[in-house]
Amino acid sequence: MHSAPPRPPSIDRVLNWTAVAPLIAEYGREPVLAGARNVLDHARTAARSGELVNYTEPALTARLAAHLALHHAPRLKRVFNLTGTVLHTNLGRAPLPEAAVDALVMAARHPCALEYDLETGGRGDRDDVVEEVLCELTGAEAATVVNNNAAAVFLLLNTLATKKQVIVSRGELVEIGGAFRVPDIMSRAGARLVEVGTTNRTHPHDFAEAIGPRTAMLMKVHTSNYAIQGFAASVSEADLAALAHAHDLPFVVDLGSGTLTDLARFGLPHEPTPWESIAAGADLVTFSGDKLLGGPQAGILVGRRALIQRIRKNPLKRALRVGKLTLAALEAVLNLYRDPDRLGDRLAALHLLTRPADEIRAQAERLLPPARQALAGWPVNVAVEPTLSQIGSGSLPVDRLESHALVVRPGSRKSGVLHDIERALRGLPLPVIGRIADGALRLDLRCLSAADEADFAAQLALLKP
Ligand SMILES: *Cc1c(COP(=O)(O)O)cnc(C)c1O
Repeated sequence: MHSAPPRPPSIDRVLNWTAVAPLIAEYGREPVLAGARNVLDHARTAARSGELVNYTEPALTARLAAHLALHHAPRLKRVFNLTGTVLHTNLGRAPLPEAAVDALVMAARHPCALEYDLETGGRGDRDDVVEEVLCELTGAEAATVVNNNAAAVFLLLNTLATKKQVIVSRGELVEIGGAFRVPDIMSRAGARLVEVGTTNRTHPHDFAEAIGPRTAMLMKVHTSNYAIQGFAASVSEADLAALAHAHDLPFVVDLGSGTLTDLARFGLPHEPTPWESIAAGADLVTFSGDKLLGGPQAGILVGRRALIQRIRKNPLKRALRVGKLTLAALEAVLNLYRDPDRLGDRLAALHLLTRPADEIRAQAERLLPPARQALAGWPVNVAVEPTLSQIGSGSLPVDRLESHALVVRPGSRKSGVLHDIERALRGLPLPVIGRIADGALRLDLRCLSAADEADFAAQLALLKP
């Protein structure tokens, strides 16, 4: 005599199980109902293909709990960026300083005077939040803010150069990772690109000869993510400004990263600043908020009042504008630049970029024993080695920062094990993102702040081969 095959319970029964009550309390009735349907569907499919399915309350509830946990986990997870690239575009670029986080939370939680003039009680402009400090830090007459630097360049071209020509050096037809290409932005904005010079050399007369009745502007694009070395020549901003002005044309600069202070005072390589471009005669300068500036994602335009006014009046400005969270964070970051002496401590991104290699080595040595213990189940060797961090986001592409890493090398020839470990690190509750190159997995500790060290060690302890 054999018993009938076990039959699945009804949805109603599952929802009334005592073990399911805590799930309903946590996720709500509708999500649990949807989850239970999904789990039962899967169980039936498995049963049909001959699997022996356990339909008991504990077994199905465990599956349901796992399904709900997976389905409801946030997709935007915090990670440890140990890639060695500080301003990593795929990992969210600059971390915000505490002052910006506080401002962001205030704006998120409460009403704020975003477009409201507290003096008159009338309507204000959201640009007013940051215009004054931007002018102070760049020497410009006026400023406006949009979603990112790509939007800033697009809006600038669309406002000032529709159906007209924009003259750019061939050496500066930049592609930034993630589909920002100067020629494409130009044509989408309705402007006509006129390329002058050659890849490695462009001279003032190249620009002068290209100027005609349909010219809207001369433009310089900062070659952020590459360097042309060797037999190279480009035209200085001052020369381009003088040439443009002699023809009554504006000279505009896409600075890309653009920081608001001289990084050389922090021991970093010098990166061009908007102040320098404005001083050299640029009429408009655009730059990112979340690259070297160390703020939220934003595109900042500074320059002549009349041009900024025209840009503000473009209906696309409304489509590209930033929200209150961005403005709150940006204002707080800009205020930090007013006190450059303390910027290195206060601006989170700059703090990471300027961490001394010795400090990082000491940290790596502290973490070596727990790292060895965590990886004891794999056939690998773990050591502390010097490494070079990159700034990232296309900023200062050639320069490297001395750092230290936990370096994992395979014990035998088989290097597949590195990919297994890399995947296991990525799969941790707080994922750890490292980098495999030259036959080793490197965890560059430059971006692991002292405050996060214990959390990181706790994640390592969860690793399982
Ligand atoms: C990064 C960069 C951009 C794009 O800036 P986003 O803020 O990422 O939109 C445009 N131009 C240059 C030269 C850049 O370096």
